[in-house]
Amino acid sequence: MTSPALTATVDLGAIAHNLDVLRNASHAPVMAVVKADAYGHGAVPVARAVLAAGAAELGVAHITEGIALRAAGIDAPITAWLHTPGADFDAAIANDIEVALSSPRQLEAVVAAARRAGVRASVTVKVDTGLNRSGVAVDEWDVFVREIAKAHAEESVVLRGVMCHLARGDEPGHPLNDEQAGRLDRAVDDLTRAGVAPEVVHMANSPAALTRPDLARDMVRPGIALYGRTPIPERGDFGLIPAMTLSAQVALVKNVAAGEGVSYSQTWIAPRDTVVAVVPAGYADGVPRLLSGHLRVRIGERLFDGIGRICMDQLVIDLGPDGAGVREGDEVELFGTGRHGGPTARDWADAIGTIDYEIVSQIGNRVVRSYV
Ligand code: PLP
Repeated sequence: MTSPALTATVDLGAIAHNLDVLRNASHAPVMAVVKADAYGHGAVPVARAVLAAGAAELGVAHITEGIALRAAGIDAPITAWLHTPGADFDAAIANDIEVALSSPRQLEAVVAAARRAGVRASVTVKVDTGLNRSGVAVDEWDVFVREIAKAHAEESVVLRGVMCHLARGDEPGHPLNDEQAGRLDRAVDDLTRAGVAPEVVHMANSPAALTRPDLARDMVRPGIALYGRTPIPERGDFGLIPAMTLSAQVALVKNVAAGEGVSYSQTWIAPRDTVVAVVPAGYADGVPRLLSGHLRVRIGERLFDGIGRICMDQLVIDLGPDGAGVREGDEVELFGTGRHGGPTARDWADAIGTIDYEIVSQIGNRVVRSYV
């Protein structure tokens, strides 16, 4: 069998371990967030792994992401929280995907879909408590409460959950966290007074689940920490284990003479005769072009610098004048756990001024996912 040129190896044992870290820190059941293909790790294998390890529910952004999980035979509760006016609530109901609603319009559309299906749809209310992104807006709240109470009385929906999302969860001591919690609790009171008391209330993302068990309410809703990435780098790694290692095989080893330029625009000129390796990974695979000039990779025990521009499909590394014994087909670690001083996704994120959420979730489709 041929081995893939470029592989993201996902350690499902690490993900199970990270789930335990989150449960122990929050003392709460976990809705595992597996949106965006489980932050690039592969939604179906990750969903199976977290459910086997004891996650209570799954969370996704789009209904279509939930349907893909159902198609793979996953029958755990799934909540989807991001919808446009064309969202297929009929399909959500048919696939038993709970929708989290952000406006009276979305409620109306779900009520219509529930009537068409002749069922009572289980829904969550997403309350905008201060992130000012999705969630029912403050000025629509009273109308929303009235409408959901009516839909509940008419038996077209049943309210199961109430959720919000924190704006500054990665700053555990920031007063906005408590303000958002207070607004969420008041929303629950409003609904309860209107005769639609929810069964589950949740707001804590990864940083809150790890540091603010008092915000857990009935369930926590972490994403990034499941994948082993600390959501608060200044507070250490919380014992989390990074789950993804991105590696490639050396495609070519070749000599480059002193004074020759490497890759587009010749931004790197060989200062001496040297040996370079061509690695089949580029920005189409999720290696950011902005990382050109900042990339370090590991081959065996040694680290090597990326040189010149990162291209769509390939990048080049300098092996030095003696070639360091590197051969075509050798494995190059682009990022991994950081053990043995190897590069990490956080190194990439720091180098280009982003967060490692973006690095892992951008790993491209042609990168073969392999599960260990
Ligand atoms: N809940 C919602 C609504 C989200 O959009 C996200 C991700 O952005 C999460 C939970 C998980 O957040 P994190 O990955 O920071 O744990």
